[in-house]
Amino acid sequence: MERDNSVLIFVELGPDGGILPLSLECVTAGRKLAELLGCGVDGLVLGSSVGEAVQELSHFGLDRVYVVDHPLLDIYHPEMACTAFLQACEVEKPKAILMGESLTSVDLAPRLAFALNTGLITDCVGFEMEEGAIHFVKPVYSSNVMAAYALATEPYLVTMRSRVEDPAERRGEPGAEVIGVEVELDNSALETVVVERILEEEEGPKLTSSDIIVSGGRGVGGLEGFEQIAELAALLNGAVGASRPPVDLGWASPKAQVGQTGEKVGPSVYIAVGISGATQHIAGMSASRTIVAINKDPRANIFKVADYGVAGKHEEVLPAFLEAMKQVLGQGDVE
Ligand SMILES: Cc1cc2nc3c(=O)[nH]c(=O)nc-3n(C[C@H](O)[C@H](O)[C@H](O)COP(=O)(O)OP(=O)(O)OC[C@H]3O[C@@H](n4cnc5c(N)ncnc54)[C@H](O)[C@@H]3O)c2cc1C
Repeated sequence: MERDNSVLIFVELGPDGGILPLSLECVTAGRKLAELLGCGVDGLVLGSSVGEAVQELSHFGLDRVYVVDHPLLDIYHPEMACTAFLQACEVEKPKAILMGESLTSVDLAPRLAFALNTGLITDCVGFEMEEGAIHFVKPVYSSNVMAAYALATEPYLVTMRSRVEDPAERRGEPGAEVIGVEVELDNSALETVVVERILEEEEGPKLTSSDIIVSGGRGVGGLEGFEQIAELAALLNGAVGASRPPVDLGWASPKAQVGQTGEKVGPSVYIAVGISGATQHIAGMSASRTIVAINKDPRANIFKVADYGVAGKHEEVLPAFLEAMKQVLGQGDVE
């Protein structure tokens, strides 16, 4: 297949039809990759009645925005999305495809790799040019080692870790050329059927997009301790995170789990309370800009990655921390 030599960003839309910040981070990453490859950056939107989102997307410095607008793409369906994506690739002929690491891309990317007969790099955090070849960098062995991979096949297919790049900035004038792609979709021979989609109601800031995360571990001791974690998170307008044991013990929601088998986060501030710092936990939060650890054991592993540490019991440190924060934010008791 002759390639158009562009980087194609898969732009995902949220349940409200808005562009996911993760996809705008991919636009930034895509620009860096395109600079190394000496090519342009295009976007691809799949969905139904997506005119408004496409109009918005044209403000983010992409050269072209390809749009597949079809009623059968209203709710994400693996086979429909893959078929539509492949047909769009026949028009666009990208050299590389970038997708944000999301539930959708984790499902879609391997299907595309198989159908396009190309290699896939997941959880990528950056690119390097080595002797004329692009190397895709990703953390391995619970983030203890950074590995660089070169792909021998095109298009390069890559999922990008969230919050590695800043989201692309909106520009005043829409600059992208919008190209509608007609696709043929048939739902009569589907192997899976989406019966229903139920959106869970979420309270407070989301773990993956929050700038501040307050995380609790087994050392927090129970539900009562987690109430203090939640109070501090709310005070800082941050999200509640957790290591795996509190999730297994039912003190925290599975959605709050940070780590190798949980969410990978990179907020500006990550406060770890009663967390020992096992490699499987560090794997999910080491990208945080500033790490604060509160742990009663001064030799705990978490202090090796922390920028600031308090060696003490959370029962003593957290109430004092909360009170101090309230004073700073002007919400404390005036004496
Ligand atoms: C395949 C696999 C995948 C995994 N994936 C994940 C994952 O995604 N995320 C994850 O987190 N873990 C994961 N784990 C589990 C991981 O190995 C650790 O067991 C886990 O991270 C430990 O959680 P913790 O630090 O909360 O608990 P612990 O290791 O029990 O540490 C508790 C800490 O609290 C401190 N403490 C105790 N009391 C207090 C107190 N009163 N005040 C202050 N500090 C106190 C202790 O000093 C200790 O450091 C995974 C494991 C496997 C095998």
